[in-house]
Amino acid sequence: MTAIDKLLHRHATGVDHGAPEVPTPVPSLHLAVVTCMDARIKVFDVFGLGHGEAHIMRNAGGVVTDDVIRSLAISQRKLETREVIVMQHTSCGLSLITEDEFKDELERETKLRPTWAIEAFRVVEDSVRQSVERVRRSPFVPHRGDVRGFVYDVRTAELTEVE
Ligand SMILES: [Zn+2]
Repeated sequence: MTAIDKLLHRHATGVDHGAPEVPTPVPSLHLAVVTCMDARIKVFDVFGLGHGEAHIMRNAGGVVTDDVIRSLAISQRKLETREVIVMQHTSCGLSLITEDEFKDELERETKLRPTWAIEAFRVVEDSVRQSVERVRRSPFVPHRGDVRGFVYDVRTAELTEVE
């Protein structure tokens, strides 16, 4: 049985009853959270978030890429969000690889070098600053006054703001 089969079984046994209590796609806190796909991060628990309160955008690293800007542009312009949290974390996989090594590995195995950046980093705070800055400088994201960056410690659950 694959993981997907397992999940289809869980769905069939009825944990999801829809969201009648959330009548609109507009997040009630008017907030978007960008964070890493890391399976250790319980993003709803980290902020005590409830269903329907925020947009959650996850990718490798919690990095603000062009595609995250795409989502933030839609989130703010069409779905009324106004604030952005960028949260990266300790012991992220992107701090364990380097841009060139990973691109070399992909090229060696596939004969194709990706055009996209890996977004690897050494110092997580620097990566958070870079991502926050990308939002603050994006002309596509109209509300840039409340964009704040954080590092989450996956062992202690400590949350530290990056200035
Ligand atoms: Zn990560």
